[in-house]
Amino acid sequence: MTATTDFGYNSKVEGEVIVSRADAVINWVRRHSVWPMPMGLACCAIELMAAGGSRFDISRFGMEVMRFSPRQSDCMIVAGTVTYKMAQVVRRIYDQMAEPKWVVAMGACASSGGMYRSYAALQGVDRIVPVDVYISGCPPRPEALLDGMMQLQEKINREKSLGGVFKNRPVRDLSFQKK
Ligand code: SF4
Repeated sequence: MTATTDFGYNSKVEGEVIVSRADAVINWVRRHSVWPMPMGLACCAIELMAAGGSRFDISRFGMEVMRFSPRQSDCMIVAGTVTYKMAQVVRRIYDQMAEPKWVVAMGACASSGGMYRSYAALQGVDRIVPVDVYISGCPPRPEALLDGMMQLQEKINREKSLGGVFKNRPVRDLSFQKK
């Protein structure tokens, strides 16, 4: 087994023995059991809901367990316009999620504020939480969400699980909050 191989098999070892790296096994488990926190804030949330239906079937990727508790979820999918009023709530729920955790910005609004160049809309959720995957579109179709989630799986697969259990994520400045 080389550093670039996840699994190895040695026929000289008696029995059905497969050797691997701890990182590879942990990442394999993590990327196939992502439990999303559906942060549905506007129209994109309808497409997020559609992804859970039988036509698109997000459960094919082990992600159908949408949890509405931050204690039981590890991937926040921000679907919709993030207003300043909601931004504090989004950040608080993100803080309550246990590590390791990931964030997907679904759609133009969550990624950059979209068409709302307005005093009320946050110009991208990455101003308050670290985003792992951005999904374009207004709204993105469920297939685009599934593609984004597969990109997230690839990212999880590249992580140093043992060394980075507690990722040193920067604490974002929340000084944007209106006094
Ligand atoms: S990106 Fe488009 S569909 Fe999604 S929340 Fe914004 S306006 Fe609605």
